[in-house]
Amino acid sequence: MTDPVTTTDEQPVPPDQILVGGLWRRGGGEVMTPTNPATGEVITELAGASVADVREAVEAGRLAAADPSWANLTPHERARYLHRIADLLERRAAGIAALQTLNTGKTLAETRALVASAVGTFRYTAAALETGDGELTTPRGPYLTMTVQEPFGVVGAITPWNSPIASDAQKVAPALAAGNAVLLKPAAWTPLVSLALGRAITDAGLPPGLVSVLPGGGATVGDAIVRDPAVGMVSFTGGTSTGRHIAGIAAEKLMPVSLELGGKSPTIVFADADLEQTVAGILYGIFSSTGQSCIAGSRVFIAREVYDDVLRALSEATRALRVGPGDDPRTQVAPLVHHRHRDGVAAAVDRARAEGARVVCGGGVPEGETFANGAYYLPTILDGVGNDAAVCQEEIFGPVAVVLPFDDEDDLVRQANDSVFGLACGIWTGDYRRAWRVARRIQAGTVWINTYKQLSIATPFGGVKESGLGTEKGRHGIRTYSRTKAVYWGLDEAPLPWAR
Ligand code: NAD
Repeated sequence: MTDPVTTTDEQPVPPDQILVGGLWRRGGGEVMTPTNPATGEVITELAGASVADVREAVEAGRLAAADPSWANLTPHERARYLHRIADLLERRAAGIAALQTLNTGKTLAETRALVASAVGTFRYTAAALETGDGELTTPRGPYLTMTVQEPFGVVGAITPWNSPIASDAQKVAPALAAGNAVLLKPAAWTPLVSLALGRAITDAGLPPGLVSVLPGGGATVGDAIVRDPAVGMVSFTGGTSTGRHIAGIAAEKLMPVSLELGGKSPTIVFADADLEQTVAGILYGIFSSTGQSCIAGSRVFIAREVYDDVLRALSEATRALRVGPGDDPRTQVAPLVHHRHRDGVAAAVDRARAEGARVVCGGGVPEGETFANGAYYLPTILDGVGNDAAVCQEEIFGPVAVVLPFDDEDDLVRQANDSVFGLACGIWTGDYRRAWRVARRIQAGTVWINTYKQLSIATPFGGVKESGLGTEKGRHGIRTYSRTKAVYWGLDEAPLPWAR
């Protein structure tokens, strides 16, 4: 099961090879330099995929998906491959988590949880595959009608840098379960754990060519995948402007896409909320993952009568958060993924200041030897601006919360929904009737009541408005990666009457 180049605890950094159409080899594209954001040091050099590599991977995927050795597998036989991938990821979990901390800066606690989530995704998807049913539909004539699910053939899976192994698994597992070949394109800053996933997939004995891992630039490798005529569906997670661009190409091809995009999610605090739970939930919702989370609760709405008290408690708790490197077990707020991204977050806070925002806490880089070379930014709370300010309307994707007061439910709903995004929402209240009322009025794909950022593979996920198109995960998540075919079985002994 293991080979000398397998990602293990002993050899945490994969060699300079990518997976193209069943072969591990040096990529023909641009050389990337994945970096440790805690130190600024280059981890390794990796030649990414070229457009020719993409073409080769598409062709290998097309053949592998159509080959009877894959296409004719029964669901439980295909599920066995998914279980094997899960077993290998679990066995290599410590090494993969360390690799992800090295490349993304995230805390080890978080990267361990992300690997566990990827393992769970493969297992859950295997179970859903084995137990999923086709449908016998109600006949409306002398025939029997049914539907069957069929794969698209080759699927493109394009993922962002913030939670690579988990977001990769969320696409690769259901796409394989549906019977497709998959071209996985990780973000250029964070290709390493996706290659480790590729190792687990090849070591699990999947037919060669079925999965390719093609790191590289979005405008080159990503674009080539989306445009290729043999790619029948693309599942994309990333920024809204990239998603819109991909949707434009998909429209030309009349190709289905699943888009998981950006957010600026409201977290709402009513006067009767439990203060301790609320503060802990808000902090976790915005500052875990150093705010680099599509569902981060980045707009905090507080009922005016408790505004000062809640804001004071929030800022005290924020100042007490431990900022540090991801491999220090005490760290709560790790560096951002890259120095360039950290500079973008700092620029957004500076723009907010210029817009009139007050910096309640944070608002700069931490001082001291530990932080000298890392992509750090202090957890930051801003207030004093209206919901129409850019800092309330644009996604920052960093540890920055903006706090706003509201007067009553109508005022709150108006402000919370005044956003191009509609990804998530948190509601903190002791009144379950109000929680239900507000949850139904907020435009969002996911609502948390008295909790935040809890995620389950068993529960469908998707955004509304500019936060996305389509739904992933859940019992029917595999259907995102398949098309429905209807089959009619004639039962009448007599010929059709028209022709008689
Ligand atoms: P991004 O849009 O810049 O890149 C995402 C991926 O798309 C990368 O692999 C990138 O190389 C690729 N890409 C870029 N241009 C492309 C093109 N023209 N054609 C094809 N592929 C292209 O996003 P990012 O900066 O990597 O990630 C941050 C964004 O992702 C944030 O907006 C965040 O909200 C979003 N996100 C959303 C979810 C969700 O589930 N809704 C989850 C995580 C992240």
